[in-house]
Amino acid sequence: MRKKIHRQLMGIALVAICATLFLTLAFFYSQFVKQINEDLRSYAQILKTVEHISDYDLSQYNYQKDSVRVTLIHADGTVWYDSRVEDVSTMDNHAMREEVAMALQTGEGESIRKSATLAEYNFYYAILLASGDVLRIGQEAASPLLVIINALPALFLELLLLIVVCGVAAKVLTNHLVEPIEQMAENLNRIDGIPVYEELEPFVEMITRQHMDIMKSAKMRQEFTANVSHELKTPLTSISGYAELIQNHMANGQEERFATEIHRNASRLLTLINDIIRLSELDGTEQDGIMETVDLYELADVCVSMLQLNADKHEVQLSLIGESQKIIGNRQMLDELLYNLCDNAIRYNKKGGLVQVKIGRYDSGEVYVSVEDTGIGIPAEHQERIFERFYRVDKGRSKETGGTGLGLAIVKHIVSKHEADIKVESTVGFGTKIKVIFPK
Ligand code: ADP
Repeated sequence: MRKKIHRQLMGIALVAICATLFLTLAFFYSQFVKQINEDLRSYAQILKTVEHISDYDLSQYNYQKDSVRVTLIHADGTVWYDSRVEDVSTMDNHAMREEVAMALQTGEGESIRKSATLAEYNFYYAILLASGDVLRIGQEAASPLLVIINALPALFLELLLLIVVCGVAAKVLTNHLVEPIEQMAENLNRIDGIPVYEELEPFVEMITRQHMDIMKSAKMRQEFTANVSHELKTPLTSISGYAELIQNHMANGQEERFATEIHRNASRLLTLINDIIRLSELDGTEQDGIMETVDLYELADVCVSMLQLNADKHEVQLSLIGESQKIIGNRQMLDELLYNLCDNAIRYNKKGGLVQVKIGRYDSGEVYVSVEDTGIGIPAEHQERIFERFYRVDKGRSKETGGTGLGLAIVKHIVSKHEADIKVESTVGFGTKIKVIFPK
């Protein structure tokens, strides 16, 4: 990663440097050409102001030294003076030279011609004199190619210097970008002390949160496994003990009681295993099962009828109020939710107590289920934790009544799968009300 960023930064820098150099050269060359043209024009204008230029002793000036060439051409194209050529009669007709033709037509003309070697360009400016002759000024100058070739050593040095500077800058920048990420990757637990730049902060926050969630869920899983082993061990030890007594003929006529105990513990094991399997099913899948329109009142009615016998056994009066309310949800899960809440309300109740299930809808449109009992209540300090796996306020009572400590953990899962909300109101000695509110 570090190398890749570095390479890419260097690549960008190199392209930028080369493009800048090339554009600068092109700009300066065009300025150079403009300057030559302007110089030639000035020369011509000055010479033009000299009256009867033909009378002027042009040989007085060493134009060769100035590298400026002066040519005088008649309107018919014959050359009668050239500062570079001794015998002008050898020169061919100049009427068709671009700049001369233009000057004859419009009064002035200019052109650039490449020399045979391409190393030099000839710049010409021609002007029509009052006499009808054409005065042409010429100058040789280096071609762009030659300019580049001449500038090569300086360019190379500049390029080298820029590459070194960019290389160092790219390294510093890459380090600045990558270092916090590498430090984080090395030790996610000590992420807080690492100085990060602004843009990385949301990323660090997210990673920290996710890391904490992962650690928390790993710890929870570990605790859960330990709890499961412990919970399974107790009934299994009893079963094994009673069976061994019978096997060794030590029951002394208590076989029936032992068999009852074995049966009770085996049932307990089965309930426990069923709850564990259910929890891991709810835990593991992202899928929420089939979501359909479910009438909560209808479901509660079935649940209340099913638990009626159980309520009678505990001498608790179980009733349902409200009216048909439809929500989108998973029928099986909602069934479990109602069953677990009602079952708890019966089990943690007092003799002659009441359990009232209510299905209703708020004015805002949210449907709710409330299960209210007149039971033993839950102390305030335990109310937060009763949804944890295997958390029980009174372990003895829970086991005695066939509880696994997983009922409310399953309820919480179902609530979250339905994006619903759960609320507990409870007063010790007076009763508990658990309410689940479904979104619209
Ligand atoms: P359990 O199988 O032990 O009932 P749950 O997860 O269903 O486990 O409930 C966790 C604990 O919350 C119970 O052990 C009990 O102490 C407490 N609890 C749940 N519902 C009620 C209730 N209606 N009244 C009083 N205590 C309750």
